[in-house]
Amino acid sequence: MVQTLIDGFKNFVEKEYTCHMGTMTELVEKGQDPDYFIVSCIDSRSNPGTIFHPAPGTFFAHKAMGAIVRPYRQGTALAAALQFALEHNKVREIIILGHTSCGAIQAMVSGIDDEEISSFLDVARHGLEKARQKCGESCTLEALHRHAEEEIILESAENIKQYPSVTRALKGGRVNIRPWLFDMENGTLLEYNENKKQFLEIMDKESL
Ligand SMILES: [Zn+2]
Repeated sequence: MVQTLIDGFKNFVEKEYTCHMGTMTELVEKGQDPDYFIVSCIDSRSNPGTIFHPAPGTFFAHKAMGAIVRPYRQGTALAAALQFALEHNKVREIIILGHTSCGAIQAMVSGIDDEEISSFLDVARHGLEKARQKCGESCTLEALHRHAEEEIILESAENIKQYPSVTRALKGGRVNIRPWLFDMENGTLLEYNENKKQFLEIMDKESL
């Protein structure tokens, strides 16, 4: 069952340790210095380690269903990770990476009959209500899903600003927060544009 993982690990070792262009030995000796902190969904298809083809040491990663960020509470895994990334490392960009066809958002919209999952998803219910309002009365289920995916990313981007390490970094102009949406159907990446109040496709780094 695990042979796929072992084969993948062998390829990784070949590329990053054995090959003279490999970077892992240097990263271990000198330590890591990632520029990004990515909050993403647990979905296996939108894994940032896959879709960005990153070199080792590129970003810190935190995962939660729907890429949902709860309001701040001391002692959570995310609060500690952000503190480490911002106060003990020099992360410059925080990315909230949601995606289309998100099972977590679909479960929330349809009201999943699973207490454990729904009790977590409930923290994003405010985002869902905003999505319903934006989508209007003649909203199709497909459109509601898309609105909900976008609103919940924005809600998470707001919630993360309340984490003390993020608040301090924002005050000091040391970090940007980027709400991103990976459109899995079309293979595109979108960022929320504050001026135009909508998610727009990222064409290249000049558009950021
Ligand atoms: Zn998802």
